[in-house]
Parts: sequence; C-alpha cells; structure tokens
Amino acid sequence: MLAARDAGLYCPAGDFYIDPCLPVERAVITHAHSDHATAGSQRYLTARHGDVLLRERVGSDPAIESVAYGEPVTMGGVTLSFHPAGHILGSSQVRLERGGEVWVVSGDYKLAPDPTCRPFEPLRCHTFVTESTFALPIFRWPAASDVVTAIEAWWRANQEAGKASLLFGYPLGKAQRVLAALDPTIGPIVCHGAVERYNRIYRGQGIALPTPAELKDYSRALIVAPPDAHNSPWSRRFGPASTAMVSGWMRIRGTRRRRSLDRGFVLSDHADWPSLLRAIDETGAATVWVTHGYRAPLVRWLDEHGRQAVSVETRLAEPEAGTRPEADA
Ligand SMILES: [Zn+2]
Ligand SMILES: [Zn+2]
Repeated sequence: MLAARDAGLYCPAGDFYIDPCLPVERAVITHAHSDHATAGSQRYLTARHGDVLLRERVGSDPAIESVAYGEPVTMGGVTLSFHPAGHILGSSQVRLERGGEVWVVSGDYKLAPDPTCRPFEPLRCHTFVTESTFALPIFRWPAASDVVTAIEAWWRANQEAGKASLLFGYPLGKAQRVLAALDPTIGPIVCHGAVERYNRIYRGQGIALPTPAELKDYSRALIVAPPDAHNSPWSRRFGPASTAMVSGWMRIRGTRRRRSLDRGFVLSDHADWPSLLRAIDETGAATVWVTHGYRAPLVRWLDEHGRQAVSVETRLAEPEAGTRPEADA
C-alpha cells in the first residue's frame, strides 16, 4: 500500500504522498505542524477541521481540499478517510483501504484528553504506521488536569511575589490546550503574537480561548510565548518574571536547568510510552511501521512482543530524537 520514498510515504495505487517533506503533485496532510505540512505541493487534501490551519502554513495558492472526518474519498483504487488523532485541532490519522487490506497512518497522536480537538479514534487495521516521538519507557505523562493545577499554583505564587509568569510552549496546539484549560479568573493573560495568530484560528472554529489583556503592569499576568522567545528582548519587557516551559521534554532531568528555566511542566501532545503501546495494541495490526522519534526502542519492544515491526525513515535528514525541544512536543 505504501512505500518510503525521499519525499515521504507514497501510495502508488492512489498516486499521493502522506505528509511529504518535499513538494509533490498530491499531498495528503495529517495536520498543520511544519514537519508534516510542507509548502509547495500542487494539491492538498486534509481533514475539514484542519483546513484553515493548513492554509496558514502553505498559503492559499495551492488547491486545498478538505473532507469531514470519516468521509471516504476514492483515489485510484484506494479508499481514503481521515479520523481524529487527538493531537491538535484538525489532526488526523489517515485510513487507507484497498481490496480488503487496511492501513492506518497515525500522524502525531495522543490519547489524553484535550479540550481543543476531537479525541483519538481507535481504528482496526492490518498495518499501522505509528509515530514514536516519546517511545521510551521513561516517558509517562502525569494527568493533564494535575499539570494545569500545578501551572495555576505557580502563577498564583508568582503573583504573591510580584512577578510575571512567563510560560513557554509550542505556539500551535500546546499553547491553545493550556489556554483553554487554565482558570482565567486568576489574573490577566497575555499572548505572544506567534501564539495569538493561531488562537484566532481556533476561536474561528468555535474553541473558547481567553481574550488577551492589554497591560502596563505585568506582575499578576500569565504570558504565553513560543520557546524561542525565551531570553529574547521581547521577554524582558515584562519586568521581574518567573519562567517555565510546558513540554514532554521536561520529563528529562536536566532539560529545564540547561535551558535556565525556573520550572518545567510535563504536558505533551504526543502519546507517552504506555499510550503508544495501548494504541498499537488496539489496532490489532500484525505489522507496525515506526516513524519519527525513538524508532529503534519501539521496534525492538514490538518484535519481542509478537508483532512484525519495521523502522521507516520518512524524512530526509531526520533530526535525532530528543534534540529539538522546540518541536511540537
Ligand atoms: Zn505534530
Ligand atoms: Zn510530528
């Protein structure tokens, strides 16, 4: 059904690529993160909920078609449909069926609850193509509600100390998930332009997010910004501040200190190790293709537990797992 080519996963029978990293004629896109949605292709197909975000990424010039979750589309001899992946707004798994054979390409996914997107839908298939961003047994996430409570407690403590709360997180997906969950009565909320750009799109899709405040005194404020704003001139305008990052990588001891942050909150938009194993198990797939992340440990575990597992490189020059804490983690 699929073959790994230089541009990414290619379906010969349907003549399309899934999340190609090079421009192609026909691209099927699981979600709008930059490592999945490359600009320059001639035609795009994605899930309806992700349509506006994809346009924001690749521009309005190419033809972008979208279909509702679960609605079948026929391409060549292949029937394709999108199903929620629970990762960010509009994120999808891609289900392919041909002559009774079913493949599912997960894209990025998580099983944990997220108020900003539809929950992951378990699908049965013969071959499952899974991501492996956090495929090591050390990656186990605390409950998201506990993490939100911890962020709120940190914010209140900073207010008492007369400090602004500078919270860094990935600007598409992570920021909105946190903003939607926080109690907005604690104090004013300010968003960096890179975050507010996506907030507007989320609000346009009916997701309630706090309205950013205009302030002179930031000592009671929570400021949400992308990781690369840390230690930038922009981040110094808020006066005395406590800094924190929200990411799955905060689970690794030393990451917070290395990045000279006061706090690290472990919250990821990817599945942790137990969730990866559960999701794979629920597909019933005999064969599993493992793509970007910690491929080797997951392949080894699956091999030892009775599944046929294959490590598949879907990106040219794939970054080494764990080296990009700024990525959508
Ligand atoms: Zn992603
Ligand atoms: Zn990804």
